Amino acid sequence: MNFLDVLHVIGARPNVPKAAPVVRALAETGASQLVVSTGQHYDDDLFGSMLRAVGMSAPDIELNVGSGSHAQQTAAVLTSIEPVLIEQSPRIVVVYGDVNSTLAAALAAAKLHLPVAHVESGLRSHDPAMPEEINRRLVDHLSTLLFVTSPDAWVNLRAEGLADERAIEVGNPMIDSLIWARDLTDLHQRRIALDLPEDFILATIHRPSNVDDPDQVEAVLALLRELGSLLPVVLPVHPRSRVALSPAQNFPGVHLTAPLEYRDFLAALAGSRVVVTDSGGVQEEASFLGIPCVTIRTTTERPVTITHGTNRLATLASATADVNAILRSPRPVPASIPLWDGHAGNRIAQALLAYLHRTHESAHV
Ligand code: UDP
Repeated sequence: MNFLDVLHVIGARPNVPKAAPVVRALAETGASQLVVSTGQHYDDDLFGSMLRAVGMSAPDIELNVGSGSHAQQTAAVLTSIEPVLIEQSPRIVVVYGDVNSTLAAALAAAKLHLPVAHVESGLRSHDPAMPEEINRRLVDHLSTLLFVTSPDAWVNLRAEGLADERAIEVGNPMIDSLIWARDLTDLHQRRIALDLPEDFILATIHRPSNVDDPDQVEAVLALLRELGSLLPVVLPVHPRSRVALSPAQNFPGVHLTAPLEYRDFLAALAGSRVVVTDSGGVQEEASFLGIPCVTIRTTTERPVTITHGTNRLATLASATADVNAILRSPRPVPASIPLWDGHAGNRIAQALLAYLHRTHESAHV
């Protein structure tokens, strides 16, 4: 008989800084836990380096699913995680964010009648063309515990009939990781070691809406060329953008790099004048650090970064004007976001323990 309390599932880079504070906080409670990595991301400079940077040990179980189409990847995680869930029989499965592994793990667990907890519940871009939006909705509806990381998520959960006792606002574990890494790292020294330009624009671009369609890629390249004429641009290239964005390496002022190690990325972000991005997590990190952020998307699932943070949405055609305006304005002063205080991991661990306690009690009445 197996007595595993919690099984965490991570699969892609942004899952890792969300999971690390929860795993760390749970470890202090004595709850038994295992971390399963699906292998959706497998490059060491994307995934392995992130694990090390946020202080996570190597995962206990690796599924090595690798890349593929959405259906292939989701199916591969579904079929490879099912026997693990049966064998380990955890009392709850914790999934993070909105990637294909999140959906597949939640679905496999729910079909086995294992309770699921979703960290980063209730975020909605309301853009059905985003694969992540499909994953977010389905995972929330499969989950028993909904950990809300952003206050605006309540509106979305209410609209879908999910804003009940399942949902708990806990703060943002990704910001826990940022604070944890910042406190243990001399970001200024890292920035010097990276040999970055004195004044620069940081850019990250990898969403399918920007790098899969040839016309969009042309527009992204035109934007990078324009930005490079304003200030040096530092662009750590995500593997899924490598081919599409490679012409930018010849643009004056544009510096392509491999993905930066997380603490190096934070150092670069903290030292930049503005970040131009289509990443979800970077909108949050920039807001927290007070770095102006131009998000080249038509929607964001993180509107709190606009209302309280430093973020604004732009089209590929309008982003240069936005960056120009930012360069001529004083630094924004972001409002603090409720519960983005470095303690989300603890709140999640306590809520998981309370759930385990409740279900233990009810099983023994
Ligand atoms: N990140 C990193 N190195 C980079 C670019 C990003 O460590 O070169 C980190 C970033 O700080 C954030 C996370 O990766 O914590 C965001 O991941 P990504 O943009 O891949 O995913 P998204 O948030 O868009 O789902």
